[in-house]
Amino acid sequence: MHWFFASWHWWLVHSGTSELTPNVWYNAWSGWVSDLGEVTLVGAVVVGYRHANCHIQGCWRLAKHEYEMDGVKYRLCRRHHPKVDTRPTLQDFDAHHAAMVAKPKRATRSGLGPKGVTDARGGQSRA
Ligand SMILES: [Zn+2]
Repeated sequence: MHWFFASWHWWLVHSGTSELTPNVWYNAWSGWVSDLGEVTLVGAVVVGYRHANCHIQGCWRLAKHEYEMDGVKYRLCRRHHPKVDTRPTLQDFDAHHAAMVAKPKRATRSGLGPKGVTDARGGQSRA
């Protein structure tokens, strides 16, 4: 039983709760107990990372793309998303912009689209 009291005394001294100190809990509150608040900060970072990373098991990348499967939405990284495999290049944006500029504007619902463009009902616009 001596080993238990020796261990208990060691714990009381090193945890700062020994009865031999003038204020029993002072060393604990100003010591290791005050560090528990920092553990919550580390926990918040871990929870934030786990919320933002890819839903594929074992993948560490940040997930930026949604994917819906059987009514459940998942967030996947670029590598694991089935439709997002590469990043668009500047040439892709230039080609898309050139195609959109060359494309005639759509007719409005009121039929007042650009000249020569038919509206949604198939009639000629009046502009
Ligand atoms: Zn992934």
